[in-house]
Amino acid sequence: MNAHSAEINRILAEKELDGDCSVWRERFEGVGRGDVERALGQREGAYSLERLVALVSPAAEGYLEEMAQAARRLTVQRFGKTVRLYAPLYLSSYCVNSCLYCGFNKDSESQRCRLSVEQAVAEAEVIAGEGFRDILLVSSEDRGFVDVDYLARLAGELRDTFDSISVEIYQMTAEEYGELFAAGIDGVTLYQETYDRRAYRYYHPAGPKADYDNRLATPDCIAAAGMRQIGLGALLGLADWRCETLALAEHANYIIKRYWRSQVSFSFPRLRPAHEVDGLQFEHLVGDKNLVQMITALRLCFADAGLVLSTRESAELRDHLIRLGITKVSAGSKTSPGGYSHISDATEQFQIDDTRTPGQVAEMIKAAGAEPVWKDWERPIAME
Ligand code: SF4
Repeated sequence: MNAHSAEINRILAEKELDGDCSVWRERFEGVGRGDVERALGQREGAYSLERLVALVSPAAEGYLEEMAQAARRLTVQRFGKTVRLYAPLYLSSYCVNSCLYCGFNKDSESQRCRLSVEQAVAEAEVIAGEGFRDILLVSSEDRGFVDVDYLARLAGELRDTFDSISVEIYQMTAEEYGELFAAGIDGVTLYQETYDRRAYRYYHPAGPKADYDNRLATPDCIAAAGMRQIGLGALLGLADWRCETLALAEHANYIIKRYWRSQVSFSFPRLRPAHEVDGLQFEHLVGDKNLVQMITALRLCFADAGLVLSTRESAELRDHLIRLGITKVSAGSKTSPGGYSHISDATEQFQIDDTRTPGQVAEMIKAAGAEPVWKDWERPIAME
């Protein structure tokens, strides 16, 4: 456990949100219509655990329309009628970890690939050519190749083209994140995957990522390094989504209170089919209705949080969800290194669902009455 982790650990342990959450599952069942209506009547955008319990309860499933309307209203107030677009760029699929849900699992017979900095720049040029100015660099845990120096060199090459460069990679120290920030990388996405310790242990049997406490402490390191954007999330399907939502919210609330300079965003990755991953082993898959409930409940509790949705979801569902509070979407994504410029046949990390081109996704956003935003307008102000 690193120096930062004690407090968030204590919070989750005291509230019994790091286990199987039996206490909370009983609480959900006890929520009635009156509790949901009271929660909906409270100031929009204000967080309390009690309020969130009501909004994610089974009783609130009867109020999804009201929740959706309120979430939409609040999002337009805070973010305007805009949806930002980004694209992921995969750098390596060699991994030292054994996450059971992932096609890059070190034990899987995947075809793997590493991009040199020059190859990654070529991929980024394809992405830029599609209009993107917001790029997410993604890598498996391949420290020997995708190290701080590699990422800093790549960021240096991309800085003039992209307004926002963020990473979704293995856990680093605060010092390493500081070096990335100095190189022009201003955001880090790091999912806890699951806040349930037992499920975490099961799904992460080996490798550095098997350390739950270290994982939980890492967003502190990201924020301490001054990163402007911190993306949090749970991989939906590994444990009870209602309990995951409570723990995720407590984690976000803790980060927001402690590190005022960083903006927190939530992602909602649902498990997708992946190479050598048997979908039947997952007992907690989340349906569309509950995904809508989770997204709108978090919006109603966190007015200023970015809400991010990837191409894991179907076109039809994404068309619907961008009207309910989503502020950022990926488009035209490839989930294997070299996927944009077709320089390899590497196995993808997971299958995407929405296969539309970036242009088609932008048209969909316009048809929904919003403006697709390719550029991160905040950066010049934030970087001064
Ligand atoms: S989820 Fe990430 S760390 Fe785990 S096996 Fe896949 S690439 Fe590696």
